Amino acid sequence: MRAMLLVRAGAPLEAADLPVPQPGPGEVLLRVRACAVCRTDLHLVDGELPGLLAPRIPGHEIVGDVVATGAGVGLAPGARLGVPWLGWTCGQCDYCRAGCENLCDSARFTGCHTDGGYAEYVVADHRYCLPIPARFNDAEAAPLLCAGLIGYRALSAAGPARRLGLYGFGAAAHIVAQLARHDGREVYAFVRPGDEQAANFALGLGCAWAGPSDHAAPVALDAAILFAPVGALVPAALAAVRKGGRVVCAGIHMSEIPAFPYALLWGERSLCSVANLSRRDGADFMNLAGQVPLHTAVETLPLASANEALARLRRGEVQGALVLVP
Ligand SMILES: [Zn+2]
Ligand SMILES: [Zn+2]
Repeated sequence: MRAMLLVRAGAPLEAADLPVPQPGPGEVLLRVRACAVCRTDLHLVDGELPGLLAPRIPGHEIVGDVVATGAGVGLAPGARLGVPWLGWTCGQCDYCRAGCENLCDSARFTGCHTDGGYAEYVVADHRYCLPIPARFNDAEAAPLLCAGLIGYRALSAAGPARRLGLYGFGAAAHIVAQLARHDGREVYAFVRPGDEQAANFALGLGCAWAGPSDHAAPVALDAAILFAPVGALVPAALAAVRKGGRVVCAGIHMSEIPAFPYALLWGERSLCSVANLSRRDGADFMNLAGQVPLHTAVETLPLASANEALARLRRGEVQGALVLVP
């Protein structure tokens, strides 16, 4: 099968011709129909995350059709499934036992510890695959598998904020903005300074305001979510939320957070991160995505253009999500 392989961190992905993997007990073999490109893939390629076992096929926003199953899997060939970042958990550590499998000490992540979806086929543990709402086509569904899921978890962590700030308006934010608008909330979008396209994209999705991230918020926010991997935005977001407000960091990696005066945290403001996802998040979010008027903005590229897709994501030249199609 054709695949784009991360041979070592810091180098471009390499086109490779590899054997089709075979499903073991409890696993499914999927023919990949679409795989969205996530900022986490960029962090992996750049060597910014621990745990990568290279060579590795990246990609953890996978939509595919069941081709074959291992022992103990009751799925029919042709069934459409999504494969998210959370690929396996131990079920036995303190976190798993407490219902926090997203924090599992020995979790395996798709496209990091196991091969992912930048390929024609992928094998996954069927217990961690997710159903895909029928009204999304394959490419439109792909960003739901991480941008949507992490966005959903971050939105939940932000609490019932009526005025919500989003820092970084990429794939996750464009989904969260729609969910928040559907709830009747006001969304304030903070984009890269000078990125008029992103600001207009945010306004087109119903945001109340869109402006550069180095400007003050036009109103006091109840909560803010940081999707941009820029540590300097943490004090900016704390300054933008009211007393008791919450700032949620949703990225897996961030540049160093600069020192800031305690006054920004004072007043019972809180700062937290969200990490990974649980299967409960997956089930709840896919259920929601099937019911609310959510549209994902996607641009498809051939699998062989994976390096171009990553370069465009790095430069911020994406509206919504880029999706690789084998
Ligand atoms: Zn565990
Ligand atoms: Zn991701």
